[in-house]
Amino acid sequence: MSKFIFVTGGVSSSLGKGLTASSLGRLLKMRGYRITMCKLDPYINVDPGTMNPGEHGEVFVTDDGGETDLDLGHYERFIDESLSRNSNTTTGSIYSSVIAKERRGDYLGKTVQVIPHVTDEIKERVKRLASDDLDVVIVEIGGTVGDIEIVPFIEAIRQFRRDVGRDNVCYVHLTLVPYLAVNGEQKTKPTQHSVTELRSRGIQPDVIVCRSDQPISEGLKRKISLLCDVNIQAVISAIDASSIYEIPLAMHEEGLDDFVCDLLKLDVEDHPINLASWEDLVDRVEHLDRTVRIGVIGKYVNMPDAYLSIVESLNHAGFHHGAKVALEWIDAERVPTEIGVDVLERLDGIVIPGGFGERGIEGMIAAAQIARESQIPVLGICLGMQVMVVETARNIAGLEGANSSEFDRLSPHPVIDLMAEQLDVSDMGGTMRLGAYPAMLLPGSRVADLYGTEVASERHRHRYEYNGRYKTRLETAGLLCSGVSPDGRLVEFVERPDHPFFVGTQAHPEFKSRPDRQHPLFQGLLDAALDRAEGRDPHLIDLDTIR
Ligand code: GLN
Repeated sequence: MSKFIFVTGGVSSSLGKGLTASSLGRLLKMRGYRITMCKLDPYINVDPGTMNPGEHGEVFVTDDGGETDLDLGHYERFIDESLSRNSNTTTGSIYSSVIAKERRGDYLGKTVQVIPHVTDEIKERVKRLASDDLDVVIVEIGGTVGDIEIVPFIEAIRQFRRDVGRDNVCYVHLTLVPYLAVNGEQKTKPTQHSVTELRSRGIQPDVIVCRSDQPISEGLKRKISLLCDVNIQAVISAIDASSIYEIPLAMHEEGLDDFVCDLLKLDVEDHPINLASWEDLVDRVEHLDRTVRIGVIGKYVNMPDAYLSIVESLNHAGFHHGAKVALEWIDAERVPTEIGVDVLERLDGIVIPGGFGERGIEGMIAAAQIARESQIPVLGICLGMQVMVVETARNIAGLEGANSSEFDRLSPHPVIDLMAEQLDVSDMGGTMRLGAYPAMLLPGSRVADLYGTEVASERHRHRYEYNGRYKTRLETAGLLCSGVSPDGRLVEFVERPDHPFFVGTQAHPEFKSRPDRQHPLFQGLLDAALDRAEGRDPHLIDLDTIR
């Protein structure tokens, strides 16, 4: 039977609950335990798919097409397991099923209430993740204890221990220990208050992870242990790390996994930890002796979390090449008027990321043109690929007014368009192509070379597609379709063989990159960008080997 670890947060949001949970997950995995993770989000949206990335950060997409919280990205990158739509549950989705059951009469005339009906539904969602093939399920509760919306979730996880037994549940609580410069002291009061709040809901934490900008001394740990009634070994000091990938090792040094295993009666003798591969990774992260400048030209650049997985994918490729990625956030709306050719030419590489809506589109199209003309390595992701297609259509194929019909319904040349069968977009949820789809790669092309395979599976999240009616004209204009859906109808990859690196993909490759297994497209971009940075000749693709 699976064991359960619940991770809650107190004092403040954004303390890094997701990273703490992920790090613990990684440590258990490095002990050979089989684990999965999930996030319970107390907001009322049914899923984050409708939330503005400029406010909420990126929407992470799972293989099965779940639109989920960005913390699932951390989970996948740390534990290296593919999660599913069931790995993220919100208040909205809980209520949707409770209300649907009520309408069906499933509650047999009972008054439907938060306790037990909503709490049962929450517990059911968590229990559903458990299986004979899993040793541990780690559950992160979004928000902060004390929030109004979090109460049913806290109540559900309180009941959970009673349902499955004391030895099968561990409560980890993350708090902040601030440093007060005036008297030069670290303060435990916020932690005490937060634990009191948790206790008032019936949960006594087993472990307290303390975020702080400097280590928590033994004396302070003793104080927290005494006042919050946790074992002193269970007070874990979590200081700011220079790279997120250092956190698992720091947590291990603090004894987090040892304590949790002991509490859950998970055998540590039979499961000694093997840190070697992660230490290797961290060693690479700490020794990046080259620098590569990559510009991200998007519309949510004031909220870098909107592009979290892209940033991490670039970092992963950087770890592979021993290069530090210096990111430049470029507001697409300022290209090319305020940010022109000269600025972009100083970059070693460009990413044009995904996005929805018209704002910034013309700037992204201009950036694609500059990248093409100035031979700057560029990777277009989803919307980024679409603007590459529009740019070629307008500027080389002579298709005046070419556009995506998302931005110009009356365009004479809708080179990016809705597929015929998906014309109804009145419901903004669920009308997209979501999740993993395979693509057949053109042998000899750059993408086939990078992937090293003939089939690539990537996750999607978009409504519009390359309009196949323009394929011949666009290919004649030099933009090769180098990957298509197995039935040949959808274009999944485009590239310019005559360019150091000009690659677009309709998918979101950033969701599959791992710190120790960089993604081929980001690796390819960085390879070309480093050639540019360090003055080497670009690697061009020979058209004769393709056709
Ligand atoms: N807005 C575009 C579409 O829906 C691109 C989406 C994206 O970049 N994820 O097709």
